Amino acid sequence: MTGESDDVIIIGGGVIGCAIARTLASDYDVVVLERGQIAGEASALAAGEITMAPSYSDVPAIANHAIEFFRRYDGTGQFTFTECPSLELVTPGREGESRRRVKRLASKGIDVSFVEADQVEAAYPRFDLSEYVGAIKYNDTGFVDPYTFAMTLKEDAEARGATFKTETTVTDIRTTDGQVRGIETSTGTHSAPNVVVAAGWRSERFLRNHLQLPVHPYRTQCVVLTPENDLGTDVPMGWVPGEHVYFRPEQNGDLLVGGWSFVEDAPEHASTNDDEAFRNHVATLLPKFMHGFGRARFVNGWAGIDGATPDTRPIIDAPNDGPTGLLVATGFHGRGVMSAPVAATAIRTLITGSECSFPLDEFALDRFESRSPNFEFQSISAGD
Ligand SMILES: Cc1cc2nc3c(=O)[nH]c(=O)nc-3n(C[C@H](O)[C@H](O)[C@H](O)COP(=O)(O)OP(=O)(O)OC[C@H]3O[C@@H](n4cnc5c(N)ncnc54)[C@H](O)[C@@H]3O)c2cc1C
Repeated sequence: MTGESDDVIIIGGGVIGCAIARTLASDYDVVVLERGQIAGEASALAAGEITMAPSYSDVPAIANHAIEFFRRYDGTGQFTFTECPSLELVTPGREGESRRRVKRLASKGIDVSFVEADQVEAAYPRFDLSEYVGAIKYNDTGFVDPYTFAMTLKEDAEARGATFKTETTVTDIRTTDGQVRGIETSTGTHSAPNVVVAAGWRSERFLRNHLQLPVHPYRTQCVVLTPENDLGTDVPMGWVPGEHVYFRPEQNGDLLVGGWSFVEDAPEHASTNDDEAFRNHVATLLPKFMHGFGRARFVNGWAGIDGATPDTRPIIDAPNDGPTGLLVATGFHGRGVMSAPVAATAIRTLITGSECSFPLDEFALDRFESRSPNFEFQSISAGD
C-alpha cells in the first residue's frame, strides 16, 4: 500500500463509509479502508427501521432528504425500501401532550395524525389497545434490509470508481503543519488531503490524539418472534415510549422487536447475543397490545455496539479544531442506517462547499459544550 495516493480516504466500511464513498466517487479518487469486512459490524446488525420523520420532527428538511433518497433508491440492485407507517402508542397520561404535538407537527407539513384506539384496532386487528388511548401515526417511514442496503451502496460506489480494501486496519492519521497528509496502516502509508473517519463507535478512540469526540459505545439488541398465527401483511411498525421497545413486521410474517440499549464500557468483550432479560421484557409486553403473542416463538436474537452522543444525534463535521482535511461521521446512536443518505450529502457538502437542502449545524461538533465521552447516556426507541 505504501506510496498510494487518492483524493479522499474513508476509514470504515460500514453503511456510513459506503454511503459517503458512493456520493463522492464520481468526482474524486476515493478509497475505503475497512479493518474487517464491509458492513461486518453494527451496520449488518441493525433492525433496518427508517424512522427519520419522528426522529427529526424538529428539522423536517433532514427527514425529507433521507426519505426521498430511500424512495429513489428502492429497486437499485437487490435493494428494496418497504414503506410502512409507524405508530407511537399513547397512554392516557400522555394524551394531551401527544395531541398537541401532532397538531404542531402537522402544521409544519409532517405527515402525522392522532388515531383513536378503536380506529387503530379497526385498521390493524392485531392490536388490542385497551391500555392506550390511541397512537400517533407517522406515514413517511419504512424499513430496509441493512446489509443489502450497505452492499448496494458499496457496489454502486465501486461502479463509480471507488476502491474498497478489507482486512486493512488504519492505525493513525498523518498530519504536518495542521494539514492531513494521509493515513498509516500496519502494512504501510497512503496519501490523501482528505480523510473521513467513519469508524463507528471506534472513531472516538481512533481520533484521541487528534481530536476529542463525545462518543461512547453502547449496546442494543433485537429479537425475532413467530406469532401464534401469521402476522399477515398489514401490520405497521411502532414503538412503545418508556418501554425501550420498537417493532416492525418481517417479510415472512414474523415480528422483529428491538431496543433495550445500555452504555457499554467493554465493547470488544460484550455479548453478541440478546439478553434473557430483554426476551422476558418483550414476552411480557407484546401480549399487552398485540393478539397472538402469548405463546409466540423466539426464533432469533442478537446484540451489537453503536456509538452514542450526548444529544443522540451524530457528529458529521470537518471540525475547526482538527487538522485541515479531517472529517468525521460518527455517533449515529441507533439511527445510522436511516441517516446514511444524510451523512453522505453532509460530507459531500463539507468537501465541495456545494449547497445543501438541510442545516449542517445540527451535526456540528461545536454544538457540545463538553467533549467528554463520559456523558449521561440517553436511550432512544426508534422514534423518540
Ligand atoms: C441491534 C441494532 C439495531 C439497530 N437498528 C437500527 C435501525 O433500525 N435503524 C437504523 O438506522 N440504525 C439502527 N442501528 C444503528 C446502526 O446499525 C448504526 O448506527 C450504523 O450501522 C452505524 O454505521 P457506521 O458505518 O457508522 O458504523 P459500523 O457499521 O460500526 O462501521 C464502522 C466500520 O469501521 C471499521 N473500522 C473501525 N475502526 C477502523 C480502523 N481503525 N481501520 C479500518 N476500519 C475501521 C469497523 O470494522 C466497521 O466495519 C442499530 C444498531 C444495532 C446494533
